Amino acid sequence: MNSFSPQGYAQRLARTKAILDTAVARYDKLVFANSLGAEDVVLTDLIWRDFPQVKIFTLDTGRLHPANHELIARLERRYQKRMTVYAPLAEATQSLVADQGINGFYDSIENRKSCCFVRKVEPLKRALQGQDAWITGLRRSQSVTRVDVPEIGPDPAFSLDKVNPLLAWSNDDVWHAIRTADIPYNELHDKGFPSIGCAPCTRPIAKGEDIRAGRWWWENPETRECGLHRQKEVA
Ligand code: SF4
Repeated sequence: MNSFSPQGYAQRLARTKAILDTAVARYDKLVFANSLGAEDVVLTDLIWRDFPQVKIFTLDTGRLHPANHELIARLERRYQKRMTVYAPLAEATQSLVADQGINGFYDSIENRKSCCFVRKVEPLKRALQGQDAWITGLRRSQSVTRVDVPEIGPDPAFSLDKVNPLLAWSNDDVWHAIRTADIPYNELHDKGFPSIGCAPCTRPIAKGEDIRAGRWWWENPETRECGLHRQKEVA
């Protein structure tokens, strides 16, 4: 059933812009962590058009789909702007691979979390160093672990504030925004990938499956976060 309502969408878009206005007024150092998913290309469009003072960065884990790199290039071409790309530390990556093997993340949750730490969490910590707040494209309906997330609030995991302007958006809202403004998006969405992360840990989902079922599908839903959006402090 299509849950999209133009009035509801207009209200949610206005709320998103109000949240971004508040954040820009409140924080001198505000960055957007762009995961290159559908939500995040919508935020890229809003930020690069209306909030150019917000810096955008993304993480290149070293295991991304080539389509993610193509999307970075397409977004930069479209808006004539550059996002900062953070990579994992070479030495930490080498020792991770030496320890658990090139695809050791399939062997245990501990291995998977170590890989996510080296390739995502540590680079994110570097990207957030010295910032007052970060913006993300989280939506409440994406995951059982995201239902209590506030629009703006402290992020104890990284010791700064976190701004979530799309919390109330539905998947239909996101795609309405993309189609209406003809925003570049990841071509893998057209191949059944609702949520796009590293190539070995993301797969397409079947019709009717949960939207995040394509991420770390070999684990329970409760463990399927990479450490970027945890509610507790990261060591
Ligand atoms: S998503 Fe997979 S490949 Fe990417 S950092 Fe996490 S475990 Fe490693």
